[in-house]
Amino acid sequence: MSLEKETLAVLPAALRALDEGFADLPAVDVQVPGQERIVGVLQQVAVRLRDNYPYFHPLYAGQMLKPPHPIARAAYALATWINPNNHALDGGRASSAMEKEAVAEIAAMFGWQTHLGHLSSGGTMANLEALWVAGQLNSGKKIAASAQAHYTHHRISSVLGLPFAELPCDDRGRMDTKALAEMLAAGEIGCVVATLGTTGTGSIDPLPEIMRLRAQYSFRLHVDAAYGGYFTLASNLTEETRAAYNQIGQADSIVVDPHKHGLQPYGCGCVLFRDPNVGALYKHESPYTYFTSSELHLGEISLECSRPGASAVALWATQKLLPLVSGGEFAGGLDACREAAVNLAKCLAADSRWRVPFSPELDIVVWAPRAETARMTSELSQRIFTAAAKHGLHLALIRLPIAYFPSLAAASPDRQDSVLCLRSVLMKPEHREWLSQILPILDEAYCDSEEKPAE
Ligand SMILES: *Cc1c(COP(=O)(O)O)cnc(C)c1O
Repeated sequence: MSLEKETLAVLPAALRALDEGFADLPAVDVQVPGQERIVGVLQQVAVRLRDNYPYFHPLYAGQMLKPPHPIARAAYALATWINPNNHALDGGRASSAMEKEAVAEIAAMFGWQTHLGHLSSGGTMANLEALWVAGQLNSGKKIAASAQAHYTHHRISSVLGLPFAELPCDDRGRMDTKALAEMLAAGEIGCVVATLGTTGTGSIDPLPEIMRLRAQYSFRLHVDAAYGGYFTLASNLTEETRAAYNQIGQADSIVVDPHKHGLQPYGCGCVLFRDPNVGALYKHESPYTYFTSSELHLGEISLECSRPGASAVALWATQKLLPLVSGGEFAGGLDACREAAVNLAKCLAADSRWRVPFSPELDIVVWAPRAETARMTSELSQRIFTAAAKHGLHLALIRLPIAYFPSLAAASPDRQDSVLCLRSVLMKPEHREWLSQILPILDEAYCDSEEKPAE
């Protein structure tokens, strides 16, 4: 048995406590007809849901996927009995207050005592709001992000009608700041997007250098920390990575996804602005929403209208249980993930069968099997990926620029500009202990995939 079930038992007591708050109401008949059919349909749902990779299991070490913390699941479920809508206070007084508190705790993690911010459906919408604000303040100017930034920035810029410029990366997947300096000198850049934790390789754009350039050329700085934001609480970053994290608070806006490393169910992103005055840009007159109080409604500072109050409740509960502080239990989990990645990269680098282009900055490891040419490397990666899955180990694949592998590039007459590599996101703290089981399976997968010499 792998799925956590104990928190189901705590739900009825919490539900009764919630119910007591409405004890003054005249009783209503709350029988739901067709209970047996509900049971039957739910059984079908359970069977259908088996068609998934086991994201909850440590042998799932592929993409950025894992279930939420049990407290988040329970709090989310509890909130759905009310189903609050955080668009306006009328739709969810308690959950709106909880959203403001939880978001303020995230802002405080970056050293912000004041801010404007809210939750969103995810990192895409959160980034869209940040770039929308950037476009409002610097109209007509370009948004610049690196080639390894999330593809959403290019697409969002097009949705917003903002010109977009892509910056090259160095051989560790980080923004090339020389290229940035040249682009800034040419003018027309309104906003630079720095990614702290690229989705592909967990690389950290060099924020200290970007800050030096901002002192010379003024531009808006947006930090996309959708994946990596929480790692500011980790205690085992390299000095260079730590230096970048220490500058996040200088940004004009920050995006963090609680549904990535914040232990939340999907549907929870967060955007933060350093200057609360950007709230004025959101001004609108709604004929539909009944504002029964003069307090700030979250719908007045958000592009999305209806939003799940349950997301805020889940996040608030999780942060109550696991406060966002360095040295705490939550931070310890991040340390474990990072240690797992560092250890995996070390083992692979010490093994002549693999090439590791660079050691991980967060908890994402990329590597490739050693083969003669880029094309052969790509084919072997694909076979190992498939063989590992057959042995129960779920990895991911990523196409990386061949420039990350200089010796392979030099030896490849096939002139491929990219190479298919293996990738593992070790975002469950259990991965640290499970490395001893992951490595032997990777061995088996490698042996299965090696080109057998022809008889
Ligand atoms: C995941 C991610 C996004 C997109 O966020 P969603 O929550 O998937 O919409 C944007 N930027 C980065 C760096 C990410 O890792």
